[in-house]
Amino acid sequence: MSTTLISNAPTGVTLHQADNRIRLVGLGRKEIAKHLTDFGIEPKKVRMRTKQIFHWIYNYGVTDWLQMTNIAKGLRAELEAAFSLARPEIIERQISVDGTRKYLIRMAPGIEVESVFIPDVSKTGALCVSSQVGCTLTCKFCHTGTQKLVRNLTAQEIVLQVIAARDDLGEWPTTQENRKLTNIVFMGMGEPLYNTEQVGDSLDIICDPEGLGIGRRRITVSTSGVVPEIGPMGARTSAMLAISLHAANDELREQIMPINRKYPLKELMQACRDYPGVSNSRRITFEYVMLKDVNDQPWHAKQLIKLLIGIPAKVNLIPFNPWPGSEYECSDWETIETFADIVNRAGYASPIRTPRGRDILAACGQLKSESEKMRASERRKLEKSSAVNK
Ligand code: SAH
Ligand code: SF4
Repeated sequence: MSTTLISNAPTGVTLHQADNRIRLVGLGRKEIAKHLTDFGIEPKKVRMRTKQIFHWIYNYGVTDWLQMTNIAKGLRAELEAAFSLARPEIIERQISVDGTRKYLIRMAPGIEVESVFIPDVSKTGALCVSSQVGCTLTCKFCHTGTQKLVRNLTAQEIVLQVIAARDDLGEWPTTQENRKLTNIVFMGMGEPLYNTEQVGDSLDIICDPEGLGIGRRRITVSTSGVVPEIGPMGARTSAMLAISLHAANDELREQIMPINRKYPLKELMQACRDYPGVSNSRRITFEYVMLKDVNDQPWHAKQLIKLLIGIPAKVNLIPFNPWPGSEYECSDWETIETFADIVNRAGYASPIRTPRGRDILAACGQLKSESEKMRASERRKLEKSSAVNK
């Protein structure tokens, strides 16, 4: 398959990048208000100015203070001197033959983040965002799991992934008809429930109707099963929940997902039953990656059905996406279909997810930051040269 690689895609605002101004874009109302207060805006005007600026940033996507026409010219210039609306640098943008777009964004030195825009066949599309650089969990089938945690992303860095995609897709203002970026899924790098505060704050900004305006039901937070955080996250964000299940018995799940040793299935399923707002119209998605000869047999499907009894659920069957060095293979198509049929006949929707962006390694579980990949190849180079020197 062919890949279009557009390196150093223009972001148009790189002028602001090297400066020391405070970056307002990506911040929430409270933080913007605080910065405006510190800057010296009269206390009684802070609320109004915050509202105006928030609207310009998140509804219109402006990158230039001069465009904020309802703010006096003199004040605009002063604000520009103090605050930046700069986007982070997109180091690499790849577009798959199927329209999937992968971005590698440098948030700060050494903090490189991947996000993926996946257009749907219909009018919608989802942006898959990262919540951490790397991951502390080591699920065996996941490429991100081989990269050590570098750090949690801030709410601002999560919001900036959405801003970068909206810029790239030309989807400003929010009121524009037929925008394709309609949904957000936390299925990029990292475990969102190990970074709940920043994920929660980012959603307050992403879902604000006067800004980016994405509805809370269009947000899905996917977790490998950090049980104590599931309920509080639901109460805080009202987001939809996805559970990376991948096995319906503790023995197998422990083998492929070490987190199961800490939070076994019984506790995980109880947290799902108790999830705030769960109902037949707000089902929990159970993701199930199809690993050849590991978890894909009819008896596994039957075990899965039993496990889901009493939970408003749908099952997403994900063909395993291989990555360099992975130890698994994807199940055959026939095996996946048989599995899907069994689950479906038990009354659960069980779509088989079409792999997207495989040619650009953008599919689920394949994200791993370039910096890490580079480090690995540098390491190999070093190893080679030291072998020669020996
Ligand atoms: N840490 C969170 C969210 C990121 S992973 C979680 O685990 O849910 C997003 C989804 O991709 C998860 O369901 C994960 O299990 C799945 N995934 C990971 N590696 C994969 C691979 N190689 N092929 C297919 N899906 C994979
Ligand atoms: Fe981390 Fe999720 Fe990958 Fe597991 S599947 S290693 S939790 S990113």
